Amino acid sequence: MAIATVTDRRMLIDGEWVESSGGEWIEVRNPATGALAGRVPAGTEADVDRAVAAARRAFRDGRWRDMYGPDRVRVLNRLADLIDEHLDELAEVEVAQTGSAIKLRHDSDIPFAADNLRFFAGAIRHLEGKAAAEYSGSHTSMIRREPIGVVGQIAPWNYPLMMAAWKIGPALAAGNSVVLKPATATPLTTLMLGELAAGAGLPAGVLNIVTGRGDVVGNAIVAHPDVDMVSLTGDTETGRKIQAAAAPTLKRLHLELGGKAPFIVFDDADLEAAARGAVVGGLVNGGQDCTAATRVYVQRGAYDRFVELLAAHMRATRVGDPTDPATDMGSLISEQQVARVDGFVQRARQNGARVVVGGARAEVPGLHGAFYQPTLVDNVAQDSEIVQQEIFGPVVVVLPFETEDEVLAMANDVRYGLASSVWTRDVFRAMRAAKTLNFGEVWVNDHLPLTSEMPHGGFKQSGYGNDLSAYAFEEYTQVKHVMVELTGEAEKGWHYTVWGDQKS
Ligand code: NAD
Repeated sequence: MAIATVTDRRMLIDGEWVESSGGEWIEVRNPATGALAGRVPAGTEADVDRAVAAARRAFRDGRWRDMYGPDRVRVLNRLADLIDEHLDELAEVEVAQTGSAIKLRHDSDIPFAADNLRFFAGAIRHLEGKAAAEYSGSHTSMIRREPIGVVGQIAPWNYPLMMAAWKIGPALAAGNSVVLKPATATPLTTLMLGELAAGAGLPAGVLNIVTGRGDVVGNAIVAHPDVDMVSLTGDTETGRKIQAAAAPTLKRLHLELGGKAPFIVFDDADLEAAARGAVVGGLVNGGQDCTAATRVYVQRGAYDRFVELLAAHMRATRVGDPTDPATDMGSLISEQQVARVDGFVQRARQNGARVVVGGARAEVPGLHGAFYQPTLVDNVAQDSEIVQQEIFGPVVVVLPFETEDEVLAMANDVRYGLASSVWTRDVFRAMRAAKTLNFGEVWVNDHLPLTSEMPHGGFKQSGYGNDLSAYAFEEYTQVKHVMVELTGEAEKGWHYTVWGDQKS
């Protein structure tokens, strides 16, 4: 099948490609060039109402959840195949709306999105729960694992297609209907995904995509009385707003929020491997990654050598035209993000920080975009904002430490709890760190890799619930206990508790 490469894209509601009921459009600009990348409808509350009603109808009549299982598996596998077949177009549009480097999109996150959908296609065949048995002695108890209903899903801009796939994969595999809202700045590839899903045979109304602003479309999804669950990947502050907006309807929530990953280097580590890991981990997607290695703690004896290695690798990172396969780092998502990132760096500088590398906008010949230099900062206090807050830009902060206890306490001393890593050749120390680090993910001698089979989720204010893996599948299901009486007797042994005394 061909997917449309038009600039104006419509929303997907009830299997139809529609404009906003308000008639307004949102321009999507390429942050690396300022050029128009596309236009999408500015969805309204009324559009959300229509999408939720369509999702509800689809759920109620069972056109998806009651479809013959192997056919549902085939639809999700086919969607994954279509992503692979359209990889070039998807990567090109992803780059146009995010400004990030083509090799990241083409070779990493879009192929991973397809892999993830294949995993969840397989999950349809692996429902899990407790074994049926006669736990009471006179009933057979069994567990049904059922879809939740209409799920609202709200995605961020950093990995637009991959985040959309991570969301719809487990939700659809579990049999739910979905109303999905892509980030305002990056809706284009999500709409392409909707087109591919229809081409893969997903019935109309099962996946609805409403584009528009967070405080309009997002809020309408969260507040909607007929949405049973909301899943957000986004900022911790947005998570807070969503939790408040969901309270009146007591919605189930699944929140994948911000991060501030520590990266701990002991002096026995392979310093070259760790330095490469820190730079890749810190600069991936321009640092606009919730697991980015933003706080690097280095044991005193290795500190100076390690900072030299980090600086050398950072200086070798090529910032440039995102469409060039030789570019390592493209632009940030917007000028606003550049100003935010630079604000953190300049305030740190004013407070005595040393900017070892970078620390300013990057100039890319011929392009007037939102570029920022790979930046390395040290001489900062543990309680400073640059160490405590998520920057979401290509800024790595380095701090020294003396002892294991000290560094583990510093690593845990943030409000976030998403990802972390420890670098050492001492297996005992690595295992102690894995136990003590209060994060949903701990890497030992690496940073960043994820796999569809294992969970990704936050502790503390990084949210709750998991993406990826069977755990994500479970998030989108609810368990039902069915208890079947086995004796067939009218008078049961326990009835005396209501009607009279126990018979001897
Ligand atoms: P954001 O919170 O600004 O936006 C996320 C989504 O929420 C967007 O679709 C936005 O339109 C919507 N939204 C905004 N306000 C809303 C409201 N009041 N009600 C409902 N919806 C609303 O986040 P972002 O800037 O797009 O993405 C970056 C953030 O996402 C970072 O904090 C990053 O760490 C986080 N993130 C987390 C993970 C994870 O797995 N934990 C993965 C990727 C990104």
